[in-house]
Amino acid sequence: MMLLSAIRAFLIDLDGVLYKGNNPYPGVKECLQKMEELGYGYRFVSNSTRRARDSVAERLQGLGYDIAARQIYTPPLAAIEHIKKSGKERCFLLTTGDVHRDFEQAGICVSDKDVDYVVMGDAGDGFTFDRLNQALRLILDGAQILALEMDRYWSEPQGLVLSTGPFVAALEYATGKKALLMGKPSSDFFQLALRDLRVLPEEAAMIGDDILTDVHGAQEMGMQGILVKTGKYREDIANSSGVKPDMVLQSMADLARCL
Ligand SMILES: [Mg+2]
Repeated sequence: MMLLSAIRAFLIDLDGVLYKGNNPYPGVKECLQKMEELGYGYRFVSNSTRRARDSVAERLQGLGYDIAARQIYTPPLAAIEHIKKSGKERCFLLTTGDVHRDFEQAGICVSDKDVDYVVMGDAGDGFTFDRLNQALRLILDGAQILALEMDRYWSEPQGLVLSTGPFVAALEYATGKKALLMGKPSSDFFQLALRDLRVLPEEAAMIGDDILTDVHGAQEMGMQGILVKTGKYREDIANSSGVKPDMVLQSMADLARCL
């Protein structure tokens, strides 16, 4: 049983926890309000790589969640920090949507040639044979692979769809090089949000629908892991994972009773 008494803050996944597709889950907004009233800190830690941070906040507003962009952590932010720290700043983006805006606003040079990094996110239809081959050649020319996330799949309303992981694995296999993971379950990524909240890992719990990326990732770095049975949750996968969540909830809405 989980020790909620030790918990001062929550890291919360977005997709599959707050909403699925365009449908917010009932009661989750009220749970966030209760956290706020009781003085719990919280940040949103998502492996979403299809939108810039501002666009994620806008989408959440559209779903009825009053969440500021600065409360949201996505892997592009971790990649930007990594690239800046390295002193190099040229990268090729294998991403989709407006996520390039995060990089450009941070002063990083996005280019198709002579790059230091190949940054791979969930490019969806952008994972074309051409773009993947372009990435292949840049990596063989010395660029390092930064994987924004390595999830195997995610849940769209019509069913599960391939995420970034399988495509990163393909380029790793082709080049013999290892990607560096920027998003969940990287402890550096969780730390970005924990530092902002000024709490230690043991004072925080991660709430997510992914037993590996969210729950196991959090537990590996000393946080508690709360699994919700919404979103991509599947009983058979959770059972065979070997991971024991600190708490399992039908929905994040049910956490309100435990606070
Ligand atoms: Mg999720």
